[in-house]
Order: sequence, then C-alpha cells, then structure tokens
Amino acid sequence: MKIPLLDLKAQYAGIRDEVLRAVGEVLDSQVCILGPKVEELEKKVAELSDCCFAVGMSSGTDALLAALMAFGVGPGDEVVTTPFTFFATAGCVSRVGALPVFVDIDPRTFNIDPARIEAAITPRTRAIVPVHLFGQMCDMDPIMEIANRHCIPVIEDGAQAISATYKGREAGSIGAIGCFSFYPSKNLGGAGDGGMCVTNDAKLHEMLLSLRSHGAKPKYYHKYVGGNFRLDPLQAAVLLVKLPHLDRWSEARRRNAAVYDSLFAGSSVVTPHINNNCVSIYNQYSIRVRGRDALRKALSEAGIGTEIYYPAPMHLQECFAGRCRMVGSLEHSEAAANQVLALPIYPELSNDQLHYVAQSVLEVTEKQPFRNKTPIAVGWAVNGEMKGDHRAEE
Ligand SMILES: *Cc1c(COP(=O)(O)O)cnc(C)c1O
Repeated sequence: MKIPLLDLKAQYAGIRDEVLRAVGEVLDSQVCILGPKVEELEKKVAELSDCCFAVGMSSGTDALLAALMAFGVGPGDEVVTTPFTFFATAGCVSRVGALPVFVDIDPRTFNIDPARIEAAITPRTRAIVPVHLFGQMCDMDPIMEIANRHCIPVIEDGAQAISATYKGREAGSIGAIGCFSFYPSKNLGGAGDGGMCVTNDAKLHEMLLSLRSHGAKPKYYHKYVGGNFRLDPLQAAVLLVKLPHLDRWSEARRRNAAVYDSLFAGSSVVTPHINNNCVSIYNQYSIRVRGRDALRKALSEAGIGTEIYYPAPMHLQECFAGRCRMVGSLEHSEAAANQVLALPIYPELSNDQLHYVAQSVLEVTEKQPFRNKTPIAVGWAVNGEMKGDHRAEE
C-alpha cells in the first residue's frame, strides 16, 4: 500500500470544478493585484479568527516579517521565541536585524514553555513570538500575562494553526497580531504561496496594509520601508473555495488522530499530547520514538511517507551561530528534534490506510531490541535524562 505524507490530489479532486471556475473569474476580470477576491478572503479569515481585521500577505514568512516591521523591531532589539519551529519564525527576526532569543519547549506539546519566558526578557525585548506548532495553540494565558506585565507585544505564529482554539479562543486573536500561512501543505493551503495577518488593532491594521505595499500611503509617498508582501488574487480565489471545507477537514484530521491514538495505546510510541483546553487542527501528527531514523526508513520501504518536523532546532542552525541568544537549557528541543516523526494525517485517509500505517509503525517499534517498558521520558525528565535519550540516537 502506498500512502504519501500528504495527498493534495485527493483534496483537489473534490473541488476541481469550483477552483477552476474561481480562478477563471480572476483571469477574466484581469484584476491581477489585490482586488475583491483578496478583500473577500480577508473578511472571511478575520471572521473565522474572531478578529476585526485581516491583511492578505504573500506568504506566512512575509506575514511574520510585516508583523515585526509593524512594531518597528530592528537592530539592537531582541525577540523571544522557540527554537523548535520552522525556520521562518527565527529567520524573520534576523532579517529585520534583531536577535532571536530562544527558550525551550514543553516536551509534551512541543510548544514554547511559558515558564521559561520571563528569564529571557531584557530591556531590549521587543516582541514575543509563540508558535502554535503542529496545529495546537500555545498556553497563551501565562504568555500574555508576562507580555502584558512587561508591555511587550505578542505575535502569534499561527502558520500551522488557523482555526485551532485555546480556551475557546481562535488562533491569532489573542496576541497583538496573528500570522497564518497558506503554503500548500498547511491545513488551509493555496495553489502556491500565501499568508495573512490578523489583528484587532485598527492602527496595526493600517500599518500592515501600508507595509504590504512598500510602506506607501498614499501611493508613491513612503512613510516606512515595507516590502511587496501582497497576496495574489489567484491564491485568494483558490483559498475562498477551500475555506468552507476547513472545519470538515479539521474534523477528519482529529478523527484520524483518534484512530492512531487508540492503535498506539499501550505501545512505546509517544502520541501527540493535546491539552484539555485546546482544540488542535493536527497540521501534523508527530509521534516520538526511539530509533526514529530506522523507523522512518522502514516506513518508507513499506510505502509510507513521513517527515521530520524539524530535524535541527534553530539554535543549532549554522546561520544563527553567534547570531542568537539561548536562555537556559534547550535540551527538550534537541531531544524532540531527534525523536519526532510526522505520520500521514490528511483528511482523505481511509480507515484501512490508518491501520496499515499504525501496524507498520508498531512492527518496528515494538520489536526494537533496546525497547524497554519505560516510555520515553517526555516531560518528566530531569536534567540529563533527555540528553541521554538523544545521545542514544547519535
Ligand atoms: C509554514 C510556516 C511558516 C512560513 O510560512 P510560509 O507560507 O511557508 O512562508 C512560518 N512559521 C511556521 C511555524 C510554519 O510552519
């Protein structure tokens, strides 16, 4: 059986006619920059995210970049974030000339550990960027409490979490600005690059609109240096077709996750931990195992696509050597990088396919000679123990 990590053709098959019609409308109109499709999508994403405003951006990366620019983050400034994320989160901080400051994750959720943020804050801290990894939101209350006490804005990197909730509140609606990505592999993906910022602040909204078009207002008069961060109307048209299906797709992902959870119960496979106050949209279903690389190889031979999100935390990236600050131990991020493996979770998976994946995983993990009855020490490890786990992989 061949099961890719993600099957975009399966999704497209169900909406093909609608997408072609919507794209055709844009081409017929020859409104090639911004225009009514982008505005309609902005309105709908703002509603979905329970925010007053939304600004379509050329990618999730550019959404983050514009958000940092909107707060004037620049050289000499520091931005506190997680090292266990996609590169863009920290990359954007560097690109505006600021220093990424990394604090470790909660090893159960893979999200930034709020208890470690305070120690990272200095007079230079200009923003906190929590990342809602794999579709589950961060523990936002303590993050907002720290941020508010220090008067530091929070930018939510919600690239993997559009429509996820925390205590019933939508991703992107809690911090000052929320950023989404419509990269094709995200839960709401375009037919190319795209992104969006959401906010409840009218001033920030104006700022983001301006920054998206080179900081111009009016045209050809530049108060700020922005960029060309505009969302393509063809992408907006595709996304408008997909948006009404998002809840159904998320529901299917949660159903698939529940099937995996039950099939892995009692095994040595550590399944994703979702906090009680969160609804995840499972952008990824990342398990933790010992012997991850061998498992990945075996699954590949069985025809199953997997991915490692992410094999190297940001503080160990070559480009950040000497260009970031680490606060405390980042051992949970390092251990996660060595143990995580994302399994296929896309909505169109059949029950047979889910069983085949789980069975294939268990065939490997439950036969490992070094398997012991103690599960991987996720979250309860004291100093050293997680390191021990991760050295065992090397
Ligand atoms: C995908 C992603 C981004 C960047 O989005 P692009 O649209 O690919 O530029 C940023 N942060 C995280 C956490 C992501 O997963």
